[in-house]
Order: sequence, then C-alpha cells, then structure tokens
Amino acid sequence: MDTYNSYIAGLQKKKNAFIIEMEEYAEQENVPIMDSSSIETFLGLLSIQKPSTVLEIGSAIGYSAIRMAQSLPDATITTIERDAERYEKAVDYIQASGLGDQIQIIEADALNMDIERLSEESFDALFIDAAKGQYKRFFEKYSPKVKSGGVIYCDNMFMHGMVLQDNVDLHRRKRSMIRNLKEFTIWIMSHPDFNTSLLPVGDGILIAIKKEL
Ligand code: SAH
Ligand code: MG
Repeated sequence: MDTYNSYIAGLQKKKNAFIIEMEEYAEQENVPIMDSSSIETFLGLLSIQKPSTVLEIGSAIGYSAIRMAQSLPDATITTIERDAERYEKAVDYIQASGLGDQIQIIEADALNMDIERLSEESFDALFIDAAKGQYKRFFEKYSPKVKSGGVIYCDNMFMHGMVLQDNVDLHRRKRSMIRNLKEFTIWIMSHPDFNTSLLPVGDGILIAIKKEL
C-alpha cells in the first residue's frame, strides 16, 4: 500500500509553497493531516460531486479545509475543531491563504456543539476526520444535515492497518477505538439509507451516498 502511495505521490503536480509550508509544519508538529494520495483522491471525488457546501469535522490546522476551498472555488466550507491550539493555527493559516471568505471555522467539540451554530441549514457533503472511535456518533449527529443525494466521506477507515490486527496485539488504549471504528464500518456498509463504499486509498476513505428517499 505505502509503495503505491509513494509512487502516486511522485507523480503529482507541484504544490504551491504555502501548501508545502503547511505540510512541513504538520510533519514537524505531528499533526495528522491527510496524506498526499488521500487528499488528491478526496479532492478528485469532490470535483466530481461539485458540492456547494461542505461540513468538516476535525479541522486540525486547516489543511484539508484550505485544499477543499482551493479546488472548489464556488463552495463554502464549514469546519469544526476542538483543540484550542490547532484551532488558532488554523485561523492563522486560513487568513494567510486568502480564503477566509470561503471557510468558516468553529471552535467546539463537535459532539457537544449546539447544531444551531451551523450557519447552513443543510450541506451537500460532510467530511468526518476527527476522533476515530466516535465516527458513529459524528455520523448520527451530522448526517441528518446532509441533503439527500449528498455524500458523507470518512478518512482513516484503516487506522494505519490496525483494523486488520488482532485485538490482543493492539495497545490497550487503542482497542476500544478500533472496535468502535470497525463496528461503525459494518453498520454503515449495510445501512439501507446509504450507498456505501470503502476505497483502499491512503488510510482508507469511506464514501456514503445518502439515498433520495
Ligand atoms: N482534516 C484535517 C486533519 C484532522 S486531524 C486535515 O486532513 O487537514 C483530526 C482533528 O480532529 C484533530 O485536530 C482533533 O483535535 C479533532 N477532533 C477530534 N475529536 C473532535 C471533536 N469531537 N470535535 C472537534 N474536533 C475534534
Ligand atoms: Mg485523517
């Protein structure tokens, strides 16, 4: 898998200096932004879907939000981050990117946040990329905000290979997180209201299309 990711990464177009700066910062500070093949694939999927409104759970330093805003110039991105330090960094980066009009960032724990704080009534796309053990809770809270025909994307569905490991081999702290992530995966793959697929790209990207009911 990693071999293919490096191969793909070597083929990608040159990124602008600002984006490279963010990637280097993330690397130095251990901020888990989307890896190169994941973000490129994700942006490709969004370009096909052409959402006008995107809601992201887990902004970190604003990397994926800025990449989305750059590749979807007509879209508005709302993104939620609970970590104060990362939120501040994201605010700075969003401002520096010149895309502040397109991106609204909210400092909150998405699970406790009053849903009324969202400026949009509904979204074309939802991107879940926050605490991996809580995906089902994020999904249940925010998927009603997605229009029918809209798409829910989730990153890190493989948790760096941990979903394939035996539970006993995992660090105790990771066990319940991985169990939750796997339960969510089984649940959503067979959910009657969504057409769901799992792409073995990057760290695993899930795509759940909300059926028109
Ligand atoms: N989407 C970003 C990376 C996000 S990393 C990118 O690819 O550029 C995951 C982030 O989710 C972390 O910064 C973490 O603080 C945040 N997070 C985790 N649980 C959260 C919650 N309940 N509410 C809001 N943010 C959360
Ligand atoms: Mg991620």
